[in-house]
Amino acid sequence: MAGRYRSVKGTRDLVWPETALWQHVEETARRVFATHGYGEIRTPLLESTELFARSVGEETDIVGKEMYTFPDRKGRSLTLRPESTAAVARAFIEQGLESRGLPSRLFYIGPHFRYERPQRGRYRQFSQIGAELVGAAGPASDVEIVLLLVRFLEALGFDDLTVLLNTVGDAASRAAYCDALVAFLSPRAEGLSADSRRRLEANPLRILDSKDPGDRSLLEGAPAMTDSLSAQARAHFAAVCDGIEACGVSYRLEPRLVRGLDYYALTVFEIVSRGLGAQDAIVGGGRYDGLLAQLGGPDLPAIGFAIGEDRLVEATAGRRAWRQPSIWPPAHAVAIDVAPVEALRLADELRRRGVAATSELDVRSLKAALKGAAREGRRWVLLVGPEELASGTVTIKHMESGEQETVARSEAVERLARESERP
Ligand code: AMP
Repeated sequence: MAGRYRSVKGTRDLVWPETALWQHVEETARRVFATHGYGEIRTPLLESTELFARSVGEETDIVGKEMYTFPDRKGRSLTLRPESTAAVARAFIEQGLESRGLPSRLFYIGPHFRYERPQRGRYRQFSQIGAELVGAAGPASDVEIVLLLVRFLEALGFDDLTVLLNTVGDAASRAAYCDALVAFLSPRAEGLSADSRRRLEANPLRILDSKDPGDRSLLEGAPAMTDSLSAQARAHFAAVCDGIEACGVSYRLEPRLVRGLDYYALTVFEIVSRGLGAQDAIVGGGRYDGLLAQLGGPDLPAIGFAIGEDRLVEATAGRRAWRQPSIWPPAHAVAIDVAPVEALRLADELRRRGVAATSELDVRSLKAALKGAAREGRRWVLLVGPEELASGTVTIKHMESGEQETVARSEAVERLARESERP
């Protein structure tokens, strides 16, 4: 049966057991982030449109083509968040988080929205896991954030990680680089895509982000950012690279890496891994020192990253660190020829003793109940019939061996409690 309604294009339902894997990824994130001193921030899904237009940048694909933007009933322009760095920066300023002491270490997990062409691994509602470190400027903060990301991915079982590193320079370096890029591209403008030709005037750096094959081949010969770096930007980048190496993390310089958002400055990075697949990076991040001031807040440096959780979950499936949640009920109680609530009472007794358990609700036959329990992977089925009720016993059927025994009810509960502590 198809039913009358379908989920909205680009959105999807996640249903157990898939959601158990999502929980595993998120629990791992929470644990690793906590050990690094990062606390959770939850910002609204809705923000004013202007926040993203101003910070992410009018010329980016996100703002230009991909936002879910609509007027509310009073005509205010609202946008479903397409990313969270701008939202976290807005919240940081509005909540005066600076007063709690710096640096501020924050992380978030949650849905984001972009009107993109849906394809495998790319959705209109997708989830990101991200972290932001606000109020630290030195290279050690870049290293901390990259290390946090690497340790998180390692905790999920990825072990062949390479950090791709680049610097987009400070404001002075970027101005110099923009001039060099425009000087290179202007005589070749005929060969550029229409979008890139427009950006040549509006925001030349964005051209480096173009996915158009013609643009890409033209860019092969373009000057690299690293040639235009100020001494300060160069020293910062060198210290970041050294720091990452000192922590035993392997990295590769990627001079063309710019990342698609306007607010980045200095360090930008992505991570690739054989296990994460050859698709474009699952995670990216960078420093955004000017953003808070630009949004009317304190002039504080900041750096962060965002991971695409949908693809991360997909890549995590099958990794050795992952296993079914151990809380999944090993016990199932079935009432035979007595009221079904007797099975429920027994399951309740087990659960209160710490043994996860279910009970058969609509009893059809013992055979059907055993079949269902086998399908659900239960270790024990506990039978309660008139005789068991009268004598204060239960019959335990061990699903793996098929053996069956009748024991005192209190003993059965204690024994299962002991055994379910063992994996
Ligand atoms: P960005 O905020 O564009 O740097 O994206 C960070 C990560 O989020 C990307 O590397 C993707 O893994 C993920 N991501 C971005 N857009 C989507 C989407 N439409 N569907 C699924 N994942 C996405």
